[in-house]
Amino acid sequence: MSAEAEASTEVARDEAAEIMGERVKEDLVVVKNLKKYFPITGGVFSRIVGWVKAVDDISFSIKPGETLGLVGESGCGKTTAGRVLLRLLEPTDGEAYFEGDSIFDMEREDLRRLRRNMQIVFQDPYASLNPRMTVGDIIGEPLEIHNVARGKEKQDRVRELLETVGLSALHARRYPHEFSGGQRQRIGVARALALNPKLIVADEPVSALDVSIQSQVLNLLEDLQDEFDLTYLFIAHDLSVVRHISDRVAVMYLGQLVEVADEGELYENQLHPYSEALLSAIPIADPEIQRGRERIVLTGDVPSPANPPSGCHFRTRCMHAMDQCSESKPPLRDMGNEHYVACFLHH
Ligand code: SF4
Repeated sequence: MSAEAEASTEVARDEAAEIMGERVKEDLVVVKNLKKYFPITGGVFSRIVGWVKAVDDISFSIKPGETLGLVGESGCGKTTAGRVLLRLLEPTDGEAYFEGDSIFDMEREDLRRLRRNMQIVFQDPYASLNPRMTVGDIIGEPLEIHNVARGKEKQDRVRELLETVGLSALHARRYPHEFSGGQRQRIGVARALALNPKLIVADEPVSALDVSIQSQVLNLLEDLQDEFDLTYLFIAHDLSVVRHISDRVAVMYLGQLVEVADEGELYENQLHPYSEALLSAIPIADPEIQRGRERIVLTGDVPSPANPPSGCHFRTRCMHAMDQCSESKPPLRDMGNEHYVACFLHH
């Protein structure tokens, strides 16, 4: 890396550290330099021969009551990032804070309290509900685990939750296979709501559903956010779905964040070539505008996170790649109005 590039990277890091320091105090969630690597083993002795860098040094924050959309192609590390945040996976490195408390330093009791405040809705409503449990038991399980309610009190809370997500209290006695995909996802949402969490990590919550059902579940999530002051980390590969629900959007590519901006700003003034390509694939309702748009087709496959390209990870698919792009990694830089981009075209 040239001395100039090194100095510019240093300045960007200092700026980011200062901003992040403020955020730990104010924001509901702050993630700093998070890494999650998975070992690749080989040989007779199963020695570690490499690492899959699923999440490679990402930082972001989520304000109370907002929805941050985390988008990228399948395998870019977004689901892993959500799971590390919830401590369903342990981080390789980095920091994460919930209401100013360090998530990765938490031990039993604190972690238990954290789990009440941070819940997850999974992608696959068919696989995520235990088929041998009644819907009432599925939704009521967290209430028992956390000693919040038992017996009649638990049953009343389950009925209330079912009605909150648009189902009937009578559904409590039925089993998951008796419901449609959309209804099952509502059951998953009811379970996530049981403990009155502050944050819900919604991991591709509508990807497995028919398009006709997707908007119903998205509308439900929006209504619940207003009613219960919820904050969402909304993970999805589909930018049109993310747009519907997000206040801000973070675009991820091969384990790293390449652009973060307000929803409107990103959709109208995206700066990173990868965001541009993703957005160019979304159809626009107005046929006039749609006709005048150029679709950017990305060539080549996403490189393996076990062996990412040097410098900017996107350079092997970027039509603007320059020499500098293979020499050093562009830092995520603030372009004003909390619009961050990691690309040398904008440095
Ligand atoms: Fe393309 Fe270079 Fe920008 Fe990466 S840094 S997106 S390769 S122009």
